[in-house]
Amino acid sequence: MTQARGRPDSPSARLVTSTSDAPATPPTPAAAIAPAVPAAPVTAMSKRILIVEDEPALLRALRINLRARGYDVATAPTGGDALAEAQRRPPDAVLLDLGLPDLDGTQVIRHLRTWSTAPVIVLSGRAGPGDKIGALDAGADDYVTKPFSMEELLARLRAALRREDQPADGASFTIGHCVVDLSAYQVTRNGEPIHLTPTEWRLLEILLHAPGQLVSSDKLLNAVWGPGFERSTHYLRFHMAGLRRKLEDDPPRPKHLLTEPGMGYRYQP
Ligand code: CA
Repeated sequence: MTQARGRPDSPSARLVTSTSDAPATPPTPAAAIAPAVPAAPVTAMSKRILIVEDEPALLRALRINLRARGYDVATAPTGGDALAEAQRRPPDAVLLDLGLPDLDGTQVIRHLRTWSTAPVIVLSGRAGPGDKIGALDAGADDYVTKPFSMEELLARLRAALRREDQPADGASFTIGHCVVDLSAYQVTRNGEPIHLTPTEWRLLEILLHAPGQLVSSDKLLNAVWGPGFERSTHYLRFHMAGLRRKLEDDPPRPKHLLTEPGMGYRYQP
């Protein structure tokens, strides 16, 4: 059940109110990116994006904006349609509303994740962080909260597609002036070794393996301390502060080991 359906005052309904398929005259700056030109040509190189959204106005705005940027766009108004469409023509990335008429968005992610690694960006109209964390734990890569800026969504989509294109090798990561070699379990700053505790290693390893992605506190606590520690977020704050002190160039203003308040942590390459 979607929060937005049947509620004209819902956040997502505010994003775009135009009923024509032409580039919308935006009621809010959020939709100000509606293109002045028709769709760019789709080529064999075009990335295929599946938009799953039951709100016609928002679906239309997304379709117009993505097509204008040369993406090959498929749309689905329900979870069932989305899974069928994804099977028929596998997408390079999925934009997924959490509140759908038939399935919950997290169910769609779980189904998709049984066979697809395509990045999923959740479009969340829900208030609490619990839904987002649920979606991330189900296998979503990122999220935006409605009403969102089209510019931000497009940037996140580009980032997700870039990550997907990168070969997953490189056990070596750079954080400011530090080089982290995961396979050798070695960190150096300007060539000088830095000692990390086993807990710091474990946390760092998980974050580095998901560059640019939000990793929920639940997931980190579970992976490092095991079940039953989901509420012990103070452990995380303590050890993340330790990692920042050792690795960030300016620990109070971290650039690479970022906190997403109330949600989790992110390694920003
Ligand atoms: Ca919805």
